[in-house]
Amino acid sequence: MARKKKFYLFENIEVIDTAAKGKSVAKAPDGKVIFLSNAVPGDIVDIQTGRKRKSFYEGKAVKFHKLSSKRTDPVCDYFGVCGGCKWQNMKYEEQLAYKQKEVINNLIRIGHLDLPEITPILGCKEIYFYRNKMEFSFSDSRWLTNEEIKSGKEFDNKNACGFHIPRMWDKILDIDKCHLQEDPSNDIRNSIKEFAKNHNISFFNPRNQYGLLRTLMIRIASTGEIMIVLQLFSEDKKKRELLLNHIAEKFPQITSLQYVINNKGNDTIYDQNVVLFKGRDHIFELMEGLKFKINAKSFYQTNSAQAYELYKITRNFANLKGDEIVYDLYTGTGTIAQFISKSAKKVVGVESVPEAIADAKTNAKINNIKNTEFFVGDMAKIFTSEFITQNGKPDVIITDPPRDGMHKKVIEQILNILPTKIVYVSCNSATQARDLALMKEHYKIVKSQSVDMFPQTHHVENVVLLEKR
Ligand code: SAH
Repeated sequence: MARKKKFYLFENIEVIDTAAKGKSVAKAPDGKVIFLSNAVPGDIVDIQTGRKRKSFYEGKAVKFHKLSSKRTDPVCDYFGVCGGCKWQNMKYEEQLAYKQKEVINNLIRIGHLDLPEITPILGCKEIYFYRNKMEFSFSDSRWLTNEEIKSGKEFDNKNACGFHIPRMWDKILDIDKCHLQEDPSNDIRNSIKEFAKNHNISFFNPRNQYGLLRTLMIRIASTGEIMIVLQLFSEDKKKRELLLNHIAEKFPQITSLQYVINNKGNDTIYDQNVVLFKGRDHIFELMEGLKFKINAKSFYQTNSAQAYELYKITRNFANLKGDEIVYDLYTGTGTIAQFISKSAKKVVGVESVPEAIADAKTNAKINNIKNTEFFVGDMAKIFTSEFITQNGKPDVIITDPPRDGMHKKVIEQILNILPTKIVYVSCNSATQARDLALMKEHYKIVKSQSVDMFPQTHHVENVVLLEKR
């Protein structure tokens, strides 16, 4: 027997806070928390709940009695449909305040940590068009808006190039203008779409796995160099060359034009052969005189300007004198390691992705840096006492783990070594708080600085300086 679902309507409720994943929070009359997907703190709303969970509700504001003074008009036509910029309807200074608050709450509530005086979060100068890399998907099953469906019209061409609708893996929202990457990003995407439509080049159907055009990656470096990687589902030489030649001619500023033929079930290009069509197979990013070579598969922080700020804060916190051995854990392509290399005796970078370490080594060579060493391995396995004996005991550890934070074993090893200082760069203050709690007996938090790398989203980076007690 199907259980009867209970839905509630709560009226005249004030939205009081933000929560994880870009949601906001209100309190139901029974005292339980309601997570909302479409309201801003300060709004007074009627809420329709969906599924009830054990200890909270999930809901949607269905009527707005008062709009919050924290609101601003979203700039994007797709706001609310596209999963990308969930906070576009909140003023930027409010976004920053909530990011800061989340970090402090996590450090206190999860980590039970004693915090120093907190320096204000560092916001971005550019709150739109700040990304150097975008990935768009093609589909022949465009997501139709409610208005389009209500209009009762038939749409014969449902080709789209844009973003996945949240939780709908086969539906793509067609995007005409995205506010995250500067020109000519939108022009390139729209021109490819238009040309393909006019020349009968088919768009991918992810459900039944047919169609030619699959994904498009655009990278625009701070040097002005542009990389395009077009992913096709199968080889059709004539159509492929027709389209690639069109892109090359229309956008001569593209310095790297590449493609991938991928007939696997999933879109990732990391296990695929990337083929150069025109130009070089890489572009360069520049940061404070350092050059970073980036190929189709390389990782690089997606907000170049703010990555520079983040790295400067990291370097300032480490405050190196020049005679230290520094470890850069989770080094990626070795960017932080190289950025601080001039101020240290030696920097050891460790990372699990072999291609990233290959890039790190190449970049160190290009930059004529001689005091860095890079190693591939899963941190919990490679970061052993023997490794430390071989590479020297670190005076300072910089660590920048993924969202899950550090493995317990890695923390145990750090506590074995007891370096004088630890600089912990984190993109998830909840796991950072958990990890710091495990170290608080031996380390005190001397500084904590949040940095916003992703305006219009709830994401926030936090850098903490720990000193040995
Ligand atoms: N510091 C770098 C990148 C940090 S992102 C920069 O600023 O560019 C986190 C990195 O941790 C990623 O490169 C990821 O590949 C790596 N990583 C994730 N899990 C790992 C593990 N278990 N062992 C080692 N490295 C890991």
